[in-house]
Order: sequence, then C-alpha cells, then structure tokens
Amino acid sequence: MKEIKLVILSGKGGVGKSMLTSSLAMLFARKRRTVAVDCDVDAPNLAIWLGDPGNWREIKKISVSERAIIDDKRLTKKEKEECLRKCRFNALEIKEGRLRVNPFLCEGCGACEIFCPKGVVRMKSVKNAQVLVKKTRYGFPLISGQLFPGETGSGKIVTEIKKEAERIGRSFRWHSGLQSKPMLYVIDSAPGTGCPVTASLRDSNLAILLTEPTPSGFSDLKRVLGVVNYFNIPWALIINKWDINRNLSEKIEKWAGMKLLGKISYDKKIFRAVANLKPILKTELEAKREIKEIFKKVKKLLAKNFL
Ligand code: SF4
Repeated sequence: MKEIKLVILSGKGGVGKSMLTSSLAMLFARKRRTVAVDCDVDAPNLAIWLGDPGNWREIKKISVSERAIIDDKRLTKKEKEECLRKCRFNALEIKEGRLRVNPFLCEGCGACEIFCPKGVVRMKSVKNAQVLVKKTRYGFPLISGQLFPGETGSGKIVTEIKKEAERIGRSFRWHSGLQSKPMLYVIDSAPGTGCPVTASLRDSNLAILLTEPTPSGFSDLKRVLGVVNYFNIPWALIINKWDINRNLSEKIEKWAGMKLLGKISYDKKIFRAVANLKPILKTELEAKREIKEIFKKVKKLLAKNFL
C-alpha cells in the first residue's frame, strides 16, 4: 500500500478530534511522509491546534454549489406561484410582484429549473468555499478548507480538500529519509454523521473514533459508528476526558472491548495551551503522555493492517 488514510471522527463536536489529529500528525511526521488534512469545513481549527494559523501559501476560492437565477419577466402570476411550490427549501418568494431567489436559502438543487415551463431559470455556480494549503513549521503540509457563511456543499468541499491533499502529498519535496514508508494522510473530520463525515470517511483505511463519557457522547458515538460500519472501515476508540464521569467511562470501555486504544484525561490547561497556540506535544501535560501511548498503539494497528 502506497498511501494510508487515517480519519479521526466523533459523533459530536467538542470531543477533542483536532487535539488528537494535530498530535498524531506531529508524531507520525517525525518518521514518515505525513499530510495533515482538516475536513471540518464548518469550523476548521487544525492549524490552531498545531499552533500555526495564518501564513497560508495558497488560498483558492472554489465553487461547490450552484444557485438559481430567474428571469421572471415572461412568467405569469400563476406560473410564479406554481414555481414557489416547487422549491422545498422555501428559497423562492414573490415580492412586489417579482419572483426572487433568497441566496441564503437556495440549496442549488435545480428543481425550479427542471420544472420551469418557460425555461427562464438557469443554474449558476457560485464561489462559496476556499481550500488552503501551507507547509507547517514542523515540515509537513496542512490542507484545510472552509465553506463561506450560509453556504452549502460541505461534502463536496471535503472531496476537493482530499483531492488537493493527494496532489500536494504526491508533489511535496519530502526528505529522502522518509520515502521508504507509505504516505499517511491524517484527516480531521467534521463531527456528526452528515455529508462532510461521509466524504471524510470515503476511501479511508482506518477510523479512530473519539468520545467523551457523557450520555450524548456515548449515544452519538453509536450513531457515527453506524456510518463507519456501513463503509466497512476498521475502527478503534479513544475516550477523551474519561475522568469527568468514571462510571460511564467504564461502561464505554466494556462496550468497546478490544477496540479501545486509550483514554485521555480532562485538563483545563489544555485550553490554555491552545489559546496560547501551544500544541499539546509542546507542553508537559498528562494528555501529552497519554496521546503518545495512544500513538504507539495506532502505529501498531497500521503496521498490522497495512504495512
Ligand atoms: S435551485 Fe432548488 S433550492 Fe434553489 S430556488 Fe430552485 S428549487 Fe429552490
């Protein structure tokens, strides 16, 4: 296998994906070609957890969605009203007799174009997202991306970010000492089970699920696991903030059995570190030691399954 995609997922936000992804990327990058990929397109923050925001080498504006443009002059009042009913997203409105598209509600589904009896609707692509590329101060590339506020197409932009990551990974000038091992993409997924998550999981080789011992954390973990199993991707579990609810943490451990890779303690100092742009691996916190232990197990899992 020439390339391996490792995706970090969680059923809900705020569980620690970016902390873990940034740390694993930094640890793996010491010994192999590693590309960090931020696919949490509604709230990309991997660069912050790496302590290296700003200074992007490339920022490309891209289009991942379309919007309806309507020239309503030839439409009768009845046709305009009929058109309103075709839009399931309530993006069409009649104001002062004119049929208008609300750009914040239009999902670009194209239904109004298909149903228009007079062909006065056309779909226009809009530049509604950006892909960002940089070489981090640790020497490996980081590819990130973001949807602009109110825009749609989160799954499509994740696909574009991953394509860009592959292009950069394959053309990057790697240190010759790193060439012997397969290239590793460490992917920070969006939380939940929606389009950006399925797009992050697509083509991935191993999913690391992260949860916290709260009822919603455990419940959402099972939901995202349903998606991982649908794609038939091998997985392992980490419990973050395990000590905020030891009883529930124990229950999750028993539920996970051999799939449990490790636990990370809750520590308010983690938030102070990230606020000061200090990656966890550059601190002396307990979480650093715990993540390093988890890293050894992830390495073993990769070696067992893919090398
Ligand atoms: S493209 Fe779809 S969402 Fe946009 S106005 Fe037409 S029917 Fe509504």
